[in-house]
This record gives sequence, structure tokens and C-alpha cells, in this order.
Amino acid sequence: MHDIRRQFPLLDRKINGNPLVYLDNAATTQKPRAVTDAMLDYYRNINSNIHRGVHHLSQLATSAFEESRQRVMKFMGAAQHEQIIFTRGTTEAVNLVANGFRDFLKKGDRVLVTIADHHSNFVPWQQACLRSGATFDIMPVEEDGTFDLELFGRKLSQGPKMVAFPHISNVLGIENPVKEMTAMAHACGAAVLVDGAQGIAHCPVDVADLDCDFYCWSAHKIYGPTGIGVLYGKREWLEKLPPYQFGGEMIEEVELERTTFAALPFKFEAGTPAIAEGFALKPALDFVQGVGFDNLREHESELTRMALDGLGRIKGLRIYGKGEGHSGVVSFNLDGAYHYDVGVILDQLGIAVRTGHHCAQPLMKHLGVQGCVRASFAAYNTGEEVERLVAGVKKAAEMLV
Ligand code: PMP
Repeated sequence: MHDIRRQFPLLDRKINGNPLVYLDNAATTQKPRAVTDAMLDYYRNINSNIHRGVHHLSQLATSAFEESRQRVMKFMGAAQHEQIIFTRGTTEAVNLVANGFRDFLKKGDRVLVTIADHHSNFVPWQQACLRSGATFDIMPVEEDGTFDLELFGRKLSQGPKMVAFPHISNVLGIENPVKEMTAMAHACGAAVLVDGAQGIAHCPVDVADLDCDFYCWSAHKIYGPTGIGVLYGKREWLEKLPPYQFGGEMIEEVELERTTFAALPFKFEAGTPAIAEGFALKPALDFVQGVGFDNLREHESELTRMALDGLGRIKGLRIYGKGEGHSGVVSFNLDGAYHYDVGVILDQLGIAVRTGHHCAQPLMKHLGVQGCVRASFAAYNTGEEVERLVAGVKKAAEMLV
């Protein structure tokens, strides 16, 4: 743990006179020194635009960026680098697919999402349905935050063309059975998009094994920079989908009346991408693989167990999503206290949590709340920090309830 924390100098900060306890990792993780060093190294030594220069620096920058694509391909178990599209993040990745998928939707078709989806995987599909006339169907979650797969099967029997769901909900923290849900959806002829924003940093992802058609994630949730993310897609889908944006980089030939588009992955990468961020994504993935997913999962499950146990003893505290596979995220409310006030008291103690609707308003309505408090864990969090969280929430309960 000492070796891990040493790589994150920001964790040594004091906030309001107290050592920082950073438990807002589901919003964004802190970055190890190797990532910030890589950003600096890129701008100091390599900076140049990519894919179009004959000069040395441009070639260096191009190979650095393309090496990142290869690294991501291997990290996710994808077969070809053309299946890795760099986007600004999960949100842009989902929008890219939902926007193009409108070409395949018409009145009478169906799209199935879940009530546990982040707005990033809810609104693009809702809007694609509104514009195409397709029916927007929503899978509920059970009391414990899991999906009822029998009900999922019944929803699938209505023949949706697309099924979109989160690998791990950013509120409920339950790891959904992606492989099983994908196989069920495929058996009914639906394509599958997985929002992996919360999955990628917590579970090993092997897209060949999961067999989903699309998997989207953001680098900043996995110790990497903001401004870059990934869309993995099956080749037949990526070939079929129209480009999302038009401009430089994504064309093959531009004539006065028509344009032909570049081959994958460039067809979807219009304009200058986030080059430094792409370069710095590699050390982020190195960091996670250095820790190892087995160790990471064991560690985060233990922190989650401690938090559930400690918080669960506080009178009037309600936890959302306690089902099997719960790890990394604990969301709760104190009866009689406004979630925001709990967050402010914790902040006074140096404890960073998130409060509010967590970009999941449909889920908040489903849970019958306006918002909640969320603590989320990463590789560098400690048991002592969870104890400080529990003590802080107890104090908030004394002050507010
Ligand atoms: N989906 C989920 C489950 C998330 O947690 C988030 C980020 N909170 C997103 C999508 C959106 O990610 P980004 O803002 O990086 O595009």
C-alpha cells in the first residue's frame, strides 16, 4: 500500500486541516506520477500533430499514439486495433453509437436500456428513439440493485434491436453478469452496448469472452487523463455505422459533391485527437496491471465490506444496492438528513464523497430519493480511510438527525 500511495502525491494533501480521504473515485480517480510525467514528457519532448507529418516528431507522436491503441486492444482482449476508437470518453462513445444506430431504427423497433443507467447511456438512446419513432423500453432493478434475469428475458422476447446496460452501476456498485446478459440478448437478435465507465477499473474486461457488440469507457476512471476514452466495437458494426463527425483525419477523398471516408478506426476520429492523453493512457493501464485485478478486487471488496458493515450500524442509515457482486461503490442516505449536508460535513473532515443524483435521475426516482451520498474506492484507499468515513458519517448523523 505504501508503494501504491507513493505514486499519488495528491493524496498527501490536507483539506480543511485534515489529511485528505479521497472517496470520489467513481467520478474520477487520482493519477499516478507515471501518468502526469508522461503528459509532461509528451509536451516537452514529442509534441506534434499525428498521422499527417513526414517529419520526425510527427512520426514519433504518431507511433506513441498508435502504441496506445495497441495497448488498449490487448488490455480489452480485442482482436484488431481497428476496433479501438478513441473518443473523448464514455459519453462520446455512447453518443457515437446511438447517433449512428438511428439509421437502423424505425417506428415499431425497440431499444432496451435499464433504470440503473447513467444519463450517458440513457439519454442518447432515449433521444435516438424519440427521433426515429422506436419504442424506448426500460429494465427495472430489484430492491437489492440486481437485475431480475427472468424479467430481462421477457423484455428481450419483445425483440429490441439494441440492449444497453452498465457493467457496474455508478450508484449501486453491483457488477452485472455482462456475459450472460449479452448471450441472452444475442439469442433474441439484439445488439449489445455495455457502458464500462465503472467496469474498466475494477474488473478484467475481455471483450472476446463477453461477446458484447460495443464496450465504452473513459480513461479518467482508470487512473488515466481526462479527455480521452474508448469505444470498442465489433468490426461488422463499426463498418456498418455511419461516421459520427466529419472533418480532417476521417476522410479518404473529398470531392466537390461527395466524400469517401477513411478506413477504421479513423472513420470515427475526426479532427486532432487528445494526443498527450492517449500517450499518458499507457502508464495508467500499466499501473492497474501492475497492481493486478485479483489484488485490486480483493482490496476493493474488503473496503466495501468494511464500509457496508460500519455504515450499516449507523441508526437510520439506508444503503442502496446490497446485492451479490457489490463492490467499489457504497451509496447511502441518513434518514432525516439532506445528502448534500452530509457531504459538506464530511468535506470539513477532509473526506471527499459525492452527493446528488449521480447523473442517474431515473434511478433516483425509482429509489424514491432526490439524491444520495456515494463513497467509492480505488487501489490507494485504506481500511483506515474507511474507518474515517464511518466516523465522519456518525458525526454527521449526530449533527443532522
Ligand atoms: N457511465 C457511468 C456508469 C459513469 O459512472 C460515468 C461517469 N460518471 C459515465 C458513464 C460518463 O463518463 P464520462 O463523463 O467520462 O463520459
